[in-house]
Amino acid sequence: RLSERLPVEHDDEFGRLARVFNDTFARLEESFERLRRFTSDASHELRTPLTAIRSVGEVGLRKGTDPEALREAIGSMLEEADGLTRLVDSLLTISRAEAGTLQLKREPTDLAALAREVVDCLEVLAEEKEQAIHLEAAEEVIADLDRSTLRQGLLNIIDNAVKYAPRGGQVWVHVWDAGDEAFLEVRDDGPGIAAEHQPRVFDRFYRIDSGRSREVGGTGLGLAIARWAVEVNGGCIRLTSQPGHGSTFTIVVPKLARA
Ligand code: ADP
Repeated sequence: RLSERLPVEHDDEFGRLARVFNDTFARLEESFERLRRFTSDASHELRTPLTAIRSVGEVGLRKGTDPEALREAIGSMLEEADGLTRLVDSLLTISRAEAGTLQLKREPTDLAALAREVVDCLEVLAEEKEQAIHLEAAEEVIADLDRSTLRQGLLNIIDNAVKYAPRGGQVWVHVWDAGDEAFLEVRDDGPGIAAEHQPRVFDRFYRIDSGRSREVGGTGLGLAIARWAVEVNGGCIRLTSQPGHGSTFTIVVPKLARA
C-alpha cells in the first residue's frame, strides 16, 4: 500500500534514503488522488449528455414515425452530441496540460489581432442574443505568446461573457500595451459573480449553481483552461465582479518571454 511509510530511525544514509522514498510515495499518492478525482468528475460530466442523448432517442422511438417529431429528436441528439464533443475536447486539453506534453511555441504575436479574430468568431452568437461586443484595441500589441493556447483561453472568456450576459446585453473587450506587459480585459453586463464564488470559478468542473448557469449549460472547464492558457504564457488572470454589476476578467502577459 502506498500509504505505508518507511521508518526513519537514524539520520544516517538509510534514514535519508527512507525520507526520499517517503517523499516520493507522498507525491505519488497525491497524483493518484488527483487522477482519481479527475476521472470521477469527468465520468460524471460525460454521463449527463449521454443520458440526454439516450432519453431523447427513447422519446423519439416512442413517438413512432411522425417525421416532425423524429426530426426534432434527431436535432436535439445532434446538439447534445456537439456538447459532448466540446466536453471531450476540453478534457483532452486539460489532460495534455497536466501531462505537460503540449508543445508550446512562444513567438511574437499580435494580441490585438488575436482579440479581433476571437471577437469575429463570437459575433454570430452575440447577434443571436442581440448583444453588442465593443472592441477597443491598440493598432498592434506584440507579445511573445503561444498563439493557440492563448486563443483558446481568450475564446473561453469572451464566450462566457456572451453566454452569461443577458439578451440585448453588452460585452467590452479592451487590449492595451503597458510597457513590459500587455493587458486584455473582458467586461460584461451580466449577473456578475459573488465574492464567495470568485476564487473557485477557475477550478475544474466548478459551476455556480444558479438558474442562469443551468439554463446556459457548460462544463465548468472553460475558466480552468483559460487560467492554464494564460499561466503557461507567463501571465496571470484576475476577476473583479459585483453581483448585479457584471464581471471583468483581466489577463496580463509579459511581452517578452523570460528565459
Ligand atoms: P462553464 O462551462 O460552466 O461556463 P467555466 O469554467 O467557463 O464553466 O465557468 C465557471 C462558472 O463561472 C460558470 O458556470 C458560471 O457560473 C461562472 N461564470 C463564468 N464566466 C462568467 C461571467 N462572465 N458572468 C457570470 N458568471 C460567469
